[in-house]
Amino acid sequence: MELRITCIPGDGIGPEIVAEAKKVLDAVAVKYGHVMHYTDILMGGASIDVHGVPLTEEAVKTAKSADAVLMGSIGGDTTTSPWYKLPPNLRPEAGLLGIRKALNLFANLRPAVLYEELAGACPLKEEISAAGFDMMIMRELTGGLYFGERKTVEENGIRKAIDTLTYDENEIRRIAIKGFDIARKRRKKVTSVDKANVLDSSRLWRKVVEEVAEDYPDVTLEHMLVDNCAMQLVKDPAQFDVILTENMFGDILSDEASMVTGSIGMLASASLNDTKFGLYEPSHGSAPDIAGQDIANPIATVLSASMMLRYSFDLDQEADAIDHAVKSVLQAGYRTADIMSEGCERVGCRRMGDLLAERI
Ligand code: NAD
Repeated sequence: MELRITCIPGDGIGPEIVAEAKKVLDAVAVKYGHVMHYTDILMGGASIDVHGVPLTEEAVKTAKSADAVLMGSIGGDTTTSPWYKLPPNLRPEAGLLGIRKALNLFANLRPAVLYEELAGACPLKEEISAAGFDMMIMRELTGGLYFGERKTVEENGIRKAIDTLTYDENEIRRIAIKGFDIARKRRKKVTSVDKANVLDSSRLWRKVVEEVAEDYPDVTLEHMLVDNCAMQLVKDPAQFDVILTENMFGDILSDEASMVTGSIGMLASASLNDTKFGLYEPSHGSAPDIAGQDIANPIATVLSASMMLRYSFDLDQEADAIDHAVKSVLQAGYRTADIMSEGCERVGCRRMGDLLAERI
């Protein structure tokens, strides 16, 4: 198979971790007989330095012409970098918002996995973390409270702020379909999270999710109120497979879920549109404090590449090979600095990439 991939190395550790992800993808290509066509584009600070803007139309065009986008991370030190003296629409992060919009990426996927070997980093009690967990948070990304009408007014000398939470059934249906499709590739369970005891938007969410579920009789659907879900994530995270939820709930729950893994350098993510196209990137930022030192953990980006193979190319076997390589490297005791623990061997970013590629 020929895979056309646009790469955004970005800023800070971005170029280092993307290079290692490509190394692992190349090993996959050799083993399984695929051809990878990479085209790099500039975004964020790297684009500002060359073009004066964080994202050019040319770059968007290149991204659109690919099957998927693999990104490192963008942005610099927000207190010292000259990029943050620019107006907000010209700062690095505007590039990311711009490309998400241009590519119509409405579904955000964030896995939260606790690896047995890294259980020590989990802040939960041992009796809870011992069971491990492997969940996927599917968050609606372009609707809801963050995109509704808002205003601040003054009424009779009292300041009043209004935000509007709106969802129509089409917005709910398309993300629900994504959620059920992803569950089919996993343990076939969807937990739809809402606040249907209070909000109309949640009651519609629940109805539409139930309608979509009729087309997926092999997937178990349960509903959970968001406040309960926040508790269950720390009480019994092993119960979750796919958590399907709206924008603001997903924003909060996905951060909570990633915190309970305790390892920021291990967390992948994806943003999808209604085709097979997706943008895949680590959940962490560009870590300018450790850039250029060959100490960054490339695993989150490597796992993002695995998600890309699974969800944009339906190459499940190849994605499994990457996931197994990660487990095998951890089992063998290799660690980058951020996940280092006693008795393990500390390796740099490039060596970690080599070790992963060798295990494909
Ligand atoms: P960060 O995630 O970059 O770093 C937080 C801490 O985690 C730092 O100590 C860093 O060294 C460490 N860290 C992060 N990734 C690591 C890795 N792979 N290996 C080892 N250690 C790692 O968050 P921040 O410092 O708040 O942000 C830095 C920049 O990244 C900012 O400009 C921010 O806007 C940007 N950012 C970009 C994205 C994105 O591109 N999607 C996301 C978040 C932050």
